[in-house]
Amino acid sequence: MTNMKTVSAERHIYAFAPDMAPAGAIMCGELVRFEAHDALGGQIRSESDVLAGLDFNRVNPATGPLEIKGARRGDTLVVSVKELELADRGVTVTGPGLGVLPGLLGEHVTRILPVRSEGVRFNDIWLPYRPMIGVIGVAPEKDGYPTGTAHRHGGNMDTKEIGIGSILYLPVFQDGAMLAMGDVHAVMGDGEVCVSACEVAAKITVAVDRIPGRCREWPIVETSSSWHILVSLPTIEEALAEATHQAVRILEEALELATEDAYMLTSLAVDLGISQLVDPNKTAKASIPKTILPSAF
Ligand code: CA
Repeated sequence: MTNMKTVSAERHIYAFAPDMAPAGAIMCGELVRFEAHDALGGQIRSESDVLAGLDFNRVNPATGPLEIKGARRGDTLVVSVKELELADRGVTVTGPGLGVLPGLLGEHVTRILPVRSEGVRFNDIWLPYRPMIGVIGVAPEKDGYPTGTAHRHGGNMDTKEIGIGSILYLPVFQDGAMLAMGDVHAVMGDGEVCVSACEVAAKITVAVDRIPGRCREWPIVETSSSWHILVSLPTIEEALAEATHQAVRILEEALELATEDAYMLTSLAVDLGISQLVDPNKTAKASIPKTILPSAF
């Protein structure tokens, strides 16, 4: 591991664009470490610092982008999450106008949460330590996207399945892929309803490889049990419908099923879920169990 390439947190972007200049390069198959600020750019120093007072030009930094030599447009980038080393304190923020219940609160609040490998402490409640990567993506096809927005290129998907041991498959739209990531959470519930999770600075170790000449339309994350298709669109209804459609199409193709059979099998075996409801595009997931689909590629 001593020769592993590291991308410093100082090399970061605030938008995924088709023509980004790389902060460095690795070959396919290499391990690399990304050092990442928290999603608020490290601006919260105490519980008296609230979201409303932050410089929003420094929110959602994503470390990178890293050129992946050998990755070509039309490939799938295969990102295996090997290790997440988190700082020992995280922050959670909310306030008026924010999240799923924008009318609930009259004032902004910040909590600083001790983060340990045994758990995350919120007030006197210990929560499970479930580290995950909130923002991870590549250069998109045409338009640029702020790092706070998710779409086909990945981005701010805030999906708790993107954790240690999982494998993220991203469509490659530009030669070199241009991988960037950040916004690590120590723990998060599906929905991320108050607008933030336990936001924490981290070092992310991934191995990067490619599937040549094949890609799916949206990111997919593989866990020990399932293939989770991640779709991010302006409304959750659109995202859920498109995630369902993708599951039907993948089952049709991979299992050589008629459309009606793939649709019924999706209804019988695929779980729909919500990753997040609070970013500019909302992220839905359709989870196909590996018991019926050994490989999605
Ligand atoms: Ca996020």
